[in-house]
Amino acid sequence: MNYKEALQLDIFSTISKAATELQLETYVIGGFVRDLLLKRGDAKDIDIVAVGSGIELAKKAASLLPNKPKVQVFKNYGTAMIKTKEIEIEFVGARKESYERGSRNPAVENGTLQDDQNRRDFSINAMALSLNENNFGDLLDPFNGLQDLKDKRIVTPLDPDITYSDDPLRMMRAIRFATQLNFRIDPVSLEAITRNATRIDIISKERIVVELNKILLSSTPSTGFILLEKTKLLPHMLPELVALKGIDEKEGQTHKDNFYHTLEVVDNISENTDDVWLRWAALLHDIGKAPTKRFHKKIGWTFHGHEFVGGKMVHKLFKRLKMPLNEKVKFVQKMVMMSSRPIVLSQDGVTDSAVRRLVFDAGEHVEDLMTLCEADITTKNPKKFAKYRNNFKIVREKIVEVEERDQVRNFQPPVSGEEIMRAFNLKPSREIGIIKHAIKEAILEGDIPNEHNAAYKFMLAKGKELGLKVHNAT
Ligand code: ATP
Repeated sequence: MNYKEALQLDIFSTISKAATELQLETYVIGGFVRDLLLKRGDAKDIDIVAVGSGIELAKKAASLLPNKPKVQVFKNYGTAMIKTKEIEIEFVGARKESYERGSRNPAVENGTLQDDQNRRDFSINAMALSLNENNFGDLLDPFNGLQDLKDKRIVTPLDPDITYSDDPLRMMRAIRFATQLNFRIDPVSLEAITRNATRIDIISKERIVVELNKILLSSTPSTGFILLEKTKLLPHMLPELVALKGIDEKEGQTHKDNFYHTLEVVDNISENTDDVWLRWAALLHDIGKAPTKRFHKKIGWTFHGHEFVGGKMVHKLFKRLKMPLNEKVKFVQKMVMMSSRPIVLSQDGVTDSAVRRLVFDAGEHVEDLMTLCEADITTKNPKKFAKYRNNFKIVREKIVEVEERDQVRNFQPPVSGEEIMRAFNLKPSREIGIIKHAIKEAILEGDIPNEHNAAYKFMLAKGKELGLKVHNAT
């Protein structure tokens, strides 16, 4: 099959010219070819393989390009890269790999195109298009990747047990591609992944997280997490989620399976946000339920304080997976810790002061919190669903209303500590804290508006109550 038409970019004819000049067999290979045949958006990464020196080819191609771009050379890897505003082109020499157990870094030697295709992870990632003058655009597809694209199948070119054991990251990649592309992993492959699951432990946490993020950013992330669970990979990365699986029954009372509930919440939220951190929050919002689960004869199953426990677990989990311990983890923790607040609020009746407190506590993340809580409605009872939805709608409206009036989102005390000190001629002391706290509470309760004059008057009264003498009122 020939795909000359699909290789219209100027860059391909330039690389082809360079290849002819150097007399190097040259191909475009891997993800670019796969996505091109799938008509999957505009690819940004192009992988070029040359039977010979990829670095020489990159240099030659750059010299033929009108703007003579810089070539970045990675000598140790034998690769070179040309970056333009829109695309990154990586050049590599065709190679043959052999692995040793215990490492995912193979011994590498120069090889043919076929050798290079053999080392690829999946048939759909092993296809190459020729950039050679004599057969420009020809598809070289030794493992029938094109058919697998049509059949939506993830299958390894060689024995899957060897493929996955050699480089266990491929197990995550298989699941990630299945999730992103909505493909099925070949059953033989799936069994091999399950057999080799413990090998994932030789992969760095950072690489695992890259794949988890890609799964989470897919349109239906549950596909990936169900596969991770089924293949026994999940306990190696997110045991907290595995612990949510299952339904206990005591004295005829059950609770929902919090693992599948969580996955539903993640799928739901994915319809409304592409923020990977908010998706993480959805994934982790119930992890505190496993350690807090109790059974009481009268009331059945409870998970008291699971939000707080879950918040603490988030930090440990991020640390273990070497994820960022900056404002991102704080955000996820905050979402987990507050994840029941809007629900309780909407059940108790949506009062102004409760909404004001919600906005005060959630601050700039209040909309994200609402998005999470709406995704958390997974009841299959249409009446209940409509009721909860409607309650959240009311909460959202009230948030806007309260915000317009009181601006407590990024609360700044309307009366400063210095003003309090001046008014009562105080040195820094406990009383200042007490008065400031009382002002904040009065605003959140709606006793006074969030403005200077009202707060100042309130401060004078509060000071008197504490036995302070007014020294310098303004
Ligand atoms: P995406 O850009 O969506 O991650 P991709 O397939 O382009 O998809 P890359 O990681 O850029 O992924 O890899 C480029 C190509 O290199 C793949 O298509 C595949 O042929 C090969 N490859 C990448 N990682 C591996 C691996 N662990 N084992 C074998 N081949 C791999």
